[in-house]
This record gives sequence, C-alpha cells and structure tokens, in this order.
Amino acid sequence: MSTKVSCPTCQTEVVWNAQSEYRPFCSKRCQLIDLGEWSMENHKITSPLQQDYQLSELDKQKLIEEAEAMLAQNQDSFFKD
Ligand SMILES: [Zn+2]
Repeated sequence: MSTKVSCPTCQTEVVWNAQSEYRPFCSKRCQLIDLGEWSMENHKITSPLQQDYQLSELDKQKLIEEAEAMLAQNQDSFFKD
C-alpha cells in the first residue's frame, strides 16, 4: 500500500515514498514553480496594492521558464539535502 498525493503545482499524482524526492511535487520543476508563487505570496503581504494579484497563464509560463533557467544553472547543487 502506498500513499499518494497530488502535486500542488500540476495535480499529478505523486507516490509518497523515498523515490519521489520532490514530493509532494512531481518534479523539481513543479517545486521551483511553487517556491516562485510562495515568494509572490510574501510579496503580496508587504504590497497591499497587489492584493488582487493572481497568476495569469502568461505569468505561470514565465515562472516555468525562470525555473528551468535556474535549474540549468544549479543542476546538481540546488535542493540537495
Ligand atoms: Zn507537478
């Protein structure tokens, strides 16, 4: 029996075990995207004018591209325990 969770970013089913190293995310990419949204979330708190801000599809695409660029630069060192 295995526990499954939904990736918070893309809702893909992720098996919760040692093999799923980015759990609850399905991948490093989704983890980075979520971190990006989290930092925007923080930014929102300190910037009341942006309180109605929501991620558009375009912004999401930009985050994905930034995440992939970050990954390219941090291939081995990023998110290692
Ligand atoms: Zn995902």
